[in-house]
Order: sequence, then C-alpha cells, then structure tokens
Amino acid sequence: MAYSITCTDAGQDCAFAVTAPTEEELMQHIQMHASVGHPGMELTPEKISQVQSVIRTV
Ligand SMILES: [Zn+2]
Repeated sequence: MAYSITCTDAGQDCAFAVTAPTEEELMQHIQMHASVGHPGMELTPEKISQVQSVIRTV
C-alpha cells in the first residue's frame, strides 16, 4: 500500500502528483513541492488537514 495525492485533489490548478510509502513521507514531498511550486501558499494547519483529507491509498 502507498499514499498518493495530486495538487488537483487539493484544489490547486497544478499537475503535480506524488506517491509515497508512508503518509509522513508524502507530507514531506507535499511541503517541498508547495515551497517550490506554490510559494504563495501557506501550509496552515487548516490547509494541512484539508490536504490530509484528500490523500488516497493505492
Ligand atoms: Zn502543485
């Protein structure tokens, strides 16, 4: 099993997609991508829980 998310899932108009073996690793990839791809987006606790709610297991 792996964890997967796309920026589209999180409501962003962006083709970024990532899959990771753990939710922790997935969140690290998301934070890295957000700082590079969405410099204006703040990862507030609300944003993080919104992101976590759309994580899919594959
Ligand atoms: Zn993105």
